[in-house]
Amino acid sequence: MEIKEVQSAKQEGVFAMAAEFGHEQVVHCYDEATGLKALIAIHNTALGPALGGTRMWNYASEQDALIDVLRLSRGMTFKAAISGLNLGGGKAVLIGDAKTMKTEAYLRRFGKFIQSLSGKYITAEDVNMKTSDMEFIGMETQYVTGLPESMGGGGDPSPVTAYGVYMGIKATAKKVYGSDDLGGKKIAVQGVGQVGTYLLEYLVKENAKVTITDISEEKVKEVAKRFGVDAVAQDKIYDLDMDIYTPCALGATLNDDTIPRLKCAIVAGGANNQLKDEVKHGYMLLDKGITYAPDFLINAGGLINVGNEFYGNYNRERVYHHAEKIYDTCLNILNLAEKEKITSQEAAIHLAEKRIAEVGKVRIPR
Ligand code: NAD
Repeated sequence: MEIKEVQSAKQEGVFAMAAEFGHEQVVHCYDEATGLKALIAIHNTALGPALGGTRMWNYASEQDALIDVLRLSRGMTFKAAISGLNLGGGKAVLIGDAKTMKTEAYLRRFGKFIQSLSGKYITAEDVNMKTSDMEFIGMETQYVTGLPESMGGGGDPSPVTAYGVYMGIKATAKKVYGSDDLGGKKIAVQGVGQVGTYLLEYLVKENAKVTITDISEEKVKEVAKRFGVDAVAQDKIYDLDMDIYTPCALGATLNDDTIPRLKCAIVAGGANNQLKDEVKHGYMLLDKGITYAPDFLINAGGLINVGNEFYGNYNRERVYHHAEKIYDTCLNILNLAEKEKITSQEAAIHLAEKRIAEVGKVRIPR
């Protein structure tokens, strides 16, 4: 499997797209009574059942929903594999308005569809899905994770995600500066939501010189005051004199417009899909001498958390121990990228594919 630009498949049919990106199964779920229209994409189960959240979105077209679910599920395969989890990659999308359509019956019908896959796909929360929605889904299927602590689950995954991102930032600093001490380093954090705020605790403790931004002015004010850090307007973040740019808000912030403006040595953050185009923008960063910590590796703490919850006997200490390994994996990837003269994103995907190929063979009964 090579790195491919999924959007290029926009005009193709479902089988052509599934074949191009190596999907095993794409399930279309429809229920007239509740108005449910869902797509479940199972990308790869060589390492274990396909785990990935359910996203609800009012997609402009069914084709857009299909592209999204295929792209996201493929990303989950690599994220699980590179994190050493015994899980495959999957994702589900619900097509419709999350504000009006999510009734108990709707969610339970979706749970029944998940159950019908007999554990090949395991769901969790994603955009526009709440813990309470998972509770309804969980009434019809045991293949759901990311439940609240009160229900025996692992609770909010964001602190673990933030810890993994912190490990990734430190490993990248070690590669670039020869030391992982972040004291005095100028770090710009874009987005101070769940992940961004938990991350700030680590950065501030290490005496990094942090600047934050967010679309919510109220949040920026409150967080800047709480942590004693500087703040800038949303669009100014790319032009800052900084050592490390840390995207923790949206995807695709590394693009034709922003990369030429960046003056940092490192990009390492928690947001998903930071490179607008995996190949082109990966090489643009490389050519500028900016070291990029692959997002799907360093933000894998959340998946590590829900994955451990699904294995059973959830133990927070074990989860943090697992997330700590992101440091060594990140360093290995950066060294491999340097040796092979490829982008860190490509190096990370190569390592993930290698594990899938090697361990996948072990799991097949002979
Ligand atoms: P969140 O919604 O709590 O926080 C996102 C923050 O970004 C919000 O404060 C929002 O106001 C801000 N924001 C949105 N657009 C912005 C913009 N243009 N400029 C500046 N700020 C902007 O979300 P989160 O859970 O903290 O997740 C942040 C990112 O990390 C997302 O990309 C998410 O997919 C990714 N991620 C999160 C987890 C997790 O465990 N929560 C796990 C893996 C990846």
